[in-house]
Amino acid sequence: MPIINCHAHTVISDGSDTMLDMAKRASSLGHCALVVTDHNYPTDHNFHTGWRERDVIEENSLSPIPIIVGAEISTPFGDHLLFGKEVLRNWEHYKSLLDRINKDFDLNLWIECFKTYVLAKASLQGMPGWFVRSKVTPMPYAMILCHPRSPAGYYRRFPKEWWDLCHGFEIRNGMQEYDAFDEGKEAVAFFRSMMPGCMELKNSDAHTVDQLTECHNEIPHEITNEAQLYKWLRSGRRDWRLSNHPSHDKLKEFAKKAMEGMNPCPPEYMKVLNDSMEDLLA
Ligand SMILES: [Zn+2]
Repeated sequence: MPIINCHAHTVISDGSDTMLDMAKRASSLGHCALVVTDHNYPTDHNFHTGWRERDVIEENSLSPIPIIVGAEISTPFGDHLLFGKEVLRNWEHYKSLLDRINKDFDLNLWIECFKTYVLAKASLQGMPGWFVRSKVTPMPYAMILCHPRSPAGYYRRFPKEWWDLCHGFEIRNGMQEYDAFDEGKEAVAFFRSMMPGCMELKNSDAHTVDQLTECHNEIPHEITNEAQLYKWLRSGRRDWRLSNHPSHDKLKEFAKKAMEGMNPCPPEYMKVLNDSMEDLLA
């Protein structure tokens, strides 16, 4: 059975080894790909400047297995693994917008903006909103809750909409197994109840090549690119749905500002974007 680890760090954030060295070790352990999830906090290599794509192309050409890049992001709800190029490319800008929203409004709005953002980005790429939202089309991202160290009571404070955004959680992180002690068991049971059928991952969270040996996931088929990775990560979860939110006008305003600040919007997509936004927030 093919194996993969979905959580690892390199010298780009707080890891000790390069992407290529990590890939070589993962390959020797039989992994079908190396998934890199460096932190989004500021480093010498800020991850929205494009270093990822350049470096990944170069290191991929030398690597015995494909390298897939995600990120470990900090959110008001703890650390999450986030996959999806478009979301990652604009994360820093997006996060500053979210921080403002979080300060001025409430966390539910934060969440709704995330959904709106992801959908709107897809629209900008030319996909009509109805298509993006259809049951058969995966959203272009996947999100996994990392290392549930806190007591389950902490997670119970998350707004219920948050759980609609997530596709799974880590049941094991490195040497720590969360279903092996009482507090962890309670968190695991709670996650299962909030995200029925979600992915339960065993990730090494390796910060060195040696830590890659600690654990991995068995997968039904080989994963060699990002699309296959998030298709698999999303496979257990019921489809995304927009929950009813009372602040539709504010949402629309913020989503439009987010769009304006991130990329010049080609005029031909503006109508698609506006229509799908109206549709989404109706
Ligand atoms: Zn980590």
